[in-house]
Amino acid sequence: MDGICNRLLNVKGMVVEDACIVDSPLRPVSVLEVRVRPRRGMLRCSRCGRRRHGYDRGGGVRRWRHQDFGCWRVGLVASMPRVDCPECGVVVASVPWAGPGSRFTVCVLSSWSRPFRRFF
Ligand SMILES: [Zn+2]
Repeated sequence: MDGICNRLLNVKGMVVEDACIVDSPLRPVSVLEVRVRPRRGMLRCSRCGRRRHGYDRGGGVRRWRHQDFGCWRVGLVASMPRVDCPECGVVVASVPWAGPGSRFTVCVLSSWSRPFRRFF
């Protein structure tokens, strides 16, 4: 399952830990939530982009909207580790699937910038 999710999500430097379908009366459709984390050795400072040692696991989790899998809405969920950067201090680590402060993955953002293509 994790291998299939990794291939479908198509993000380098990311590890899939778990996936589940979440139904909520607050949402119009079910969401495939995929819990992910940066691959070890991939922790980078979100300000200067340099590779840094981990500081802690951070507080709470964040969610990003990813590209849909067919009729399924897909969300990535991850706790945000912090790094100890000698230049920037203790800051949230960058993640390979999204830019700082973004609620969408880079895959979603790049699909918005592509012109419409015909698939058939
Ligand atoms: Zn830094």
